[in-house]
Amino acid sequence: MRYFYLALAVSAIISTTGCSAQTKDMGSSDSAAATITPVTKTDDEWRAQLDPLQYYVLRQAGTERAFTHPLLKERRGGTFVCAGCELPLFDSATKYDSGTGWPSFWQPITAGHVLDRQDPKYSYPVTENICARCESHLGHVFNDGPRPTGLRYCINGAALKFVPAE
Ligand code: FE
Repeated sequence: MRYFYLALAVSAIISTTGCSAQTKDMGSSDSAAATITPVTKTDDEWRAQLDPLQYYVLRQAGTERAFTHPLLKERRGGTFVCAGCELPLFDSATKYDSGTGWPSFWQPITAGHVLDRQDPKYSYPVTENICARCESHLGHVFNDGPRPTGLRYCINGAALKFVPAE
């Protein structure tokens, strides 16, 4: 009987750990993330599809030089989609000038389209954003954004394409 309770306790710990890890990986996940069909391509396919800067940012988690990307000053109404797979990521209504030199937003267009994960390049906590469909690197999210969320999604322009509103 003692072993039964021990096994029960162990399985409870494992299921709790698995659940919290999944929640963290999925960021602001909800049912929307579950309906996304993953886009997976070989490295050669990505190289053929993307220009060198897009490839560096999206597939090598690079960062474009600040104040250089044309989308920094994009002011029209519309949608910013992933440059890798065109999943809608941010609405122009949530874009703001953070002064950092990178396109900045205070909220993803849909919960679950922009995922959070700890950036492995840093020893201290830095939250990286990746596309939920193609897992390409987008940028990072910080806690010094404007209301109402207080979040600053600092996104490379090269990771985005802009689709003007109709
Ligand atoms: Fe994508």
